Amino acid sequence: MRKKDEYRKKFEKALHKESLKLTSQRSAIFDEVIYGDKHRECEEICASLKDKDYNVSRATVYRTLDILIKYDFIRKMDIGDGSLRYETKIGHPHHDHMICVETGEITEFVSEEIESIQEKIAKKYGYKIIKANHQLFVKPLK
Ligand SMILES: [Zn+2]
Repeated sequence: MRKKDEYRKKFEKALHKESLKLTSQRSAIFDEVIYGDKHRECEEICASLKDKDYNVSRATVYRTLDILIKYDFIRKMDIGDGSLRYETKIGHPHHDHMICVETGEITEFVSEEIESIQEKIAKKYGYKIIKANHQLFVKPLK
């Protein structure tokens, strides 16, 4: 089975657990969020679906996003500006974000050093890390 079909099957199973069916709308939302641009707000996702002539209510988009989060397909991020952004986890491994407070631009980065230091710190206190989320708020060097 192709990867994309595999993910769609998993999504269908997740919906089933929530007593929901894989409708063409939910399928469109899935494609939009999983394979579309990252770090978007729900409004932007809705607008993009509308551009593609999908008639999906905001409530359906929100509900579907919640299911995608619950079943670990996507992550929701709060970047401190009052909006929530969504990004796919599929084919998109762990990374941290740098957010420019002047332009709003979001830059992704991975640092082996940070990863290893935080492992050590957690271990020192008798823990292991199950989830880490770094956000650096930055502005351009003048
Ligand atoms: Zn990201």
